Amino acid sequence: MAYSYDPQNIFAKILRGEIPNKTVLETEHSLAFHDIRPQAEVHVLVIPKGPYVNFDHFSTEAPVEELVDFHRATAEVCRMLGLQPSAGGTGYRLIFNSGDHGMQEVPHTHVHILAGHPLGAMLVRPS
Ligand code: AMP
Repeated sequence: MAYSYDPQNIFAKILRGEIPNKTVLETEHSLAFHDIRPQAEVHVLVIPKGPYVNFDHFSTEAPVEELVDFHRATAEVCRMLGLQPSAGGTGYRLIFNSGDHGMQEVPHTHVHILAGHPLGAMLVRPS
């Protein structure tokens, strides 16, 4: 089934400048900004500027330039924040929530960059 993109989602509004954001990095095809409800000391979201619903939509349909830009922008944010283990940083976790079981809230592709302290177990099973 083809994905249908909702242009009224909150990240689309951020991209159109209709609501503010705390920008970390903007590139030709991507935008990184601080999460409004941080769940770690460092919590930054990176989104492609194109109209993609989730990770598999983006990864399947985006042109290579947008995919590369998004990956490089994500790595650049990690570098800017001093997180890269190769440069003495303490590391980070990337999360793409997708669909219902992924508990995705905003239907625009985004990766969470989480860092700043030990992040604990990868998953906590709901009781
Ligand atoms: P997800 O559950 O993966 O869809 O995550 C959506 C994320 O977007 C959550 O962590 C929210 O806190 C974050 N969020 C929602 N609205 C905003 C906003 N206006 N600015 C920044 N982050 C937001």
